Amino acid sequence: MTPHPAFAPWLATTNDITAGFLSARPGLVNMAGGLPAPETFPVEELAGIAAATIRETPEAALGYSPVAGLPDLRDLLAERFGTGALRLTRDNVLVTTAGMQGLDLLGKVLLQPGQVVAVQAPTYLGALDAWRPHAPAYRPFAPGDNALDPETLLAGAQFGYMVPNFSNPTGRLVGTALRQRMAEAAHATGTWLVEDDPYGGLQYEGAPMPRMIALSGAMGQGTYDGPVVYMGTLSKEIVPGLRIGWVIAAPAMIRAMAAAKQGSDMCTSGLTQGIALRALRAGLVERIRPAVIALYRARRDALCAAMADHLAQWFDWEVPVGGMFVWAVARDPAFDTDRLLPLALRAGVGFTPGSVFDSTGENRRAMRINFTLNPPDRLAEGVRRLAGCVRDMAAGRA
Ligand code: PMP
Repeated sequence: MTPHPAFAPWLATTNDITAGFLSARPGLVNMAGGLPAPETFPVEELAGIAAATIRETPEAALGYSPVAGLPDLRDLLAERFGTGALRLTRDNVLVTTAGMQGLDLLGKVLLQPGQVVAVQAPTYLGALDAWRPHAPAYRPFAPGDNALDPETLLAGAQFGYMVPNFSNPTGRLVGTALRQRMAEAAHATGTWLVEDDPYGGLQYEGAPMPRMIALSGAMGQGTYDGPVVYMGTLSKEIVPGLRIGWVIAAPAMIRAMAAAKQGSDMCTSGLTQGIALRALRAGLVERIRPAVIALYRARRDALCAAMADHLAQWFDWEVPVGGMFVWAVARDPAFDTDRLLPLALRAGVGFTPGSVFDSTGENRRAMRINFTLNPPDRLAEGVRRLAGCVRDMAAGRA
């Protein structure tokens, strides 16, 4: 049967490359997805917490939850993210079905076709996926651009979107000065500024930078009512399978998003919210973080060492100080990673081509390589396989 025409934009997406289904191919070194290493999953702790959550709070765990989330979890998140300058109550917090739902609800609440979204470029593929049905117009910007003027950038946009900590896909960190200027520009223009922060807890060197929402909090008085919309998730810091995330924003934004959430999934699972509440109260994130960071730092170093040995002739990259990805850019502007991908898959290695991180398919000479999923020897093997394909392509043999 030929697919219905309405399916075309959906079927053209690259989810099977990035969402991890590649792992199911035997022998393939999957460096495509943004997947945490399963050996970091705190299995026994979560099993114990899950049993206790069901037994001790069966109605909250197994019934429907309030649409905005379990009140105790909202309170805990308000407390966890509040600072001296950023005053939060549960009215500033929406529990979401992980970070993706925050992006989806934002599109539902704010976007009409043709409206402008100022996006840090290259842009997280999942955000582009979430907003595709609303057909926005994108205004891309590069945080490293010295000529960037945040007020001009945000003026007239529905919202700005940034991943300031170890961006997906580039792994880059946005400095404090630009965070401050972006927050100020959001206040000056009245434009919403989305701070998507799944990777902030995965920092391998250096001190954490201030959150834009905290900088924004210092510009107002009383309970937070400013323009920054902060999004977090437990996916990279405990496990993605809980599907727990949160939005922290002005109360009116939280109310609007909660109303949209009602029509999406009624509520996030009370069971996984209950597990998240107990896990956060017990300090699980802080307990497992040192081991996760040590493991990922070693894997990053192994990937970058293998890249230096095998890919340096053709590609440039920066060693990221956090997150899950290395962004490699071919020196030859005509190099095409869309063309490299099928060769690489045939050779038994997966990566994500740069074009999927742009609404118009730019960045074709770049690729995103994940280092968290595989151990060092597999990363080295993956890079060797990849280098073989690059050599063939560069020599015109493929
Ligand atoms: N934002 C960014 C930038 C991400 O990289 C991811 C995960 N790939 C998410 C949001 C959402 O992840 P989750 O839905 O698992 O919280």
